[in-house]
Amino acid sequence: MVESRIRILPRTLIDQIAAGEVIVRPASVVKELIENSLDAGASLVSVEVSEDTRDVSVSDDGCGMTPEEASLSLERHATSKIASLDDLISVKTRGFRGEALASIAAVSRLTLTTRTPDAIASTRVTMDGGEPGAPETVGAPVGTTVCVRGLFYNTPARLKFMRAPTTELRRILQVVTQQALSYPAVAFSLLSKGRRLLEFPARQTLKDRFRQVMGSSVEGMLLELESGNLPVTVHGYIAKPDAARKDRSGQYLFVNRRPVTNRLLATILEQAYRGILMTGRHPVGAIFVFLEPDELDVNVHPTKEEVRFKDERQVASIVHRVVAGALRKASLVPSVRLSEAPPVSPSSLIKGRESPGIFSTPEQMIRDAFKGQSRGAVEQTDLGIAAHRAATHAMPSPPPARETPPRAQPVVASEEMPEFPEATAQPQTATDFWEYVRNAEPLGQIAGTYIVAACGGSMLLIDQHAAHERIMYERITGGAAQPAIQRLLLPITFDVDVSQIPDMEILREPLASFGIEAEHFGGQTFVINALPSDLADMDAPALIRDLLETVDLSRGDSASLPAREEIARCLACHGAIRAGQRLSREEMVRLIDDLKNTRLAFTCPHGRPTMVLLTPEQLARQFKRIT
Ligand code: ADP
Ligand code: MG
Repeated sequence: MVESRIRILPRTLIDQIAAGEVIVRPASVVKELIENSLDAGASLVSVEVSEDTRDVSVSDDGCGMTPEEASLSLERHATSKIASLDDLISVKTRGFRGEALASIAAVSRLTLTTRTPDAIASTRVTMDGGEPGAPETVGAPVGTTVCVRGLFYNTPARLKFMRAPTTELRRILQVVTQQALSYPAVAFSLLSKGRRLLEFPARQTLKDRFRQVMGSSVEGMLLELESGNLPVTVHGYIAKPDAARKDRSGQYLFVNRRPVTNRLLATILEQAYRGILMTGRHPVGAIFVFLEPDELDVNVHPTKEEVRFKDERQVASIVHRVVAGALRKASLVPSVRLSEAPPVSPSSLIKGRESPGIFSTPEQMIRDAFKGQSRGAVEQTDLGIAAHRAATHAMPSPPPARETPPRAQPVVASEEMPEFPEATAQPQTATDFWEYVRNAEPLGQIAGTYIVAACGGSMLLIDQHAAHERIMYERITGGAAQPAIQRLLLPITFDVDVSQIPDMEILREPLASFGIEAEHFGGQTFVINALPSDLADMDAPALIRDLLETVDLSRGDSASLPAREEIARCLACHGAIRAGQRLSREEMVRLIDDLKNTRLAFTCPHGRPTMVLLTPEQLARQFKRIT
């Protein structure tokens, strides 16, 4: 008889293979064990990891298990959480597949110690890469502790995929943080090498917990999300654009309280911030989406980190509306954090040296702006003033260094300062802000670039180009489908380089929709016959050259939303008044008025701030009238 080549794999091997799906790194162990603790109704979860992150232990004060349950829990497909397919659809617990403990046990040496509240002693079950040992009775408090040692000791292939301990530890930190955000009432701690890396107290509000996670960078920056009712509700906090980060590390997304990675949600979040964040910056927020469990499939991925929505468009539009609404309502005007600046040292003023601590004088603000510019980077300074790339066109050179101490320009002196300035805090909503600056009185310009206005004892600084850019952008994008155009008496001709000819062909149609009529004259030459009426003075060839460089036309997709937006942004930039342009008082008043009528007044379409406000309190503090 021929021996069959087909054979049933031994149980340990089956378990190891299955474990490969759920337990891919130490952080997976931490995640699964914390989820079990949360499912057990714990109010305290402590995590400890060894230096090499291969030993992990998680303790909780949850409901615990009876001796029988303890042995059973280590079996594959052992779960107390679902019994039927219907249960699966409406599952509210973190776990339900009944394989986490079995999987972890298959690739480590696992000890489970557990005790229910009415038991007089604890049960301990040990499993060493195979069958569970006999339960022992030991002394231990109510709750459960799972100790995992030597993770992947029997699966060398897995072990090889482990990264440096610091990388694994970073992932563990992330897992604990995510879980801690989803249960702010539960106390969490993370210990490693005897050091307390995380310590979240019990009974925190989500806001406090998120604040603790993000640190001082979000202080005073959080906006609460207010959501309507079912079918999709949204809760949580987002941070004002000032707190944005270079990566997405400040984004925490949850669906029905479960931490998830979801492309759709991440994209919607970014889209809601579009036009108020500088490129390369990413929003910060903890966003909780709740919907009926049957609108959702969490079982698409073994670790349940990915979720699938049945009605993606509905979820997308509701989340977008809630996030964008919170941003629109908020006053996003950056404030100078004067109180954090070290006091002005008189000697630095006398020597005319630049002291990084002086953020208070308008000159310093400009100098900062120039510094950013010379680095060629668009960067936000502590002032919230961004070095303005677009402003370089007509930016005058920086004022020469003076030998004598620079005298403050008498810009604010003409405004009557209250004897004891009232401690006005930053207005928190857009409505409050505009109410507050209702009677803003423009006093003049600094470097022909920033408008200085006085209002209610505050000093309002406006970047005239950024502000006008915002106004133009909303006029361009929000106006009639076909803008009023002006035919040119003298058509403008201009050349492009050979490689740009096809791009020009693609650009022509969207340009026309914005009121710019360009025709191919022949060869490398194009003619502009008409321009939008309110942009008739614009340097159109410069605009088009800019567009050819910045808009991604590679997909021949100029009608796409991003491309059209890019064009609108470019158009707004070219049509806006320049830095360095003298403005009359009336023009300044009109600019402030027009800005007030925009939807997102506080940033230009590239996400740079349009205004900076120094409150009476900040001014008084700076001059040591109050401390
Ligand atoms: P699942 O969580 O998908 O049910 P697990 O393998 O993670 O599967 O756990 C199996 C079972 O063991 C759970 O259903 C639960 O009844 C029990 N269990 C696991 N961890 C704990 C714990 N920390 N406290 C109480 N019971 C637990
Ligand atoms: Mg579980």
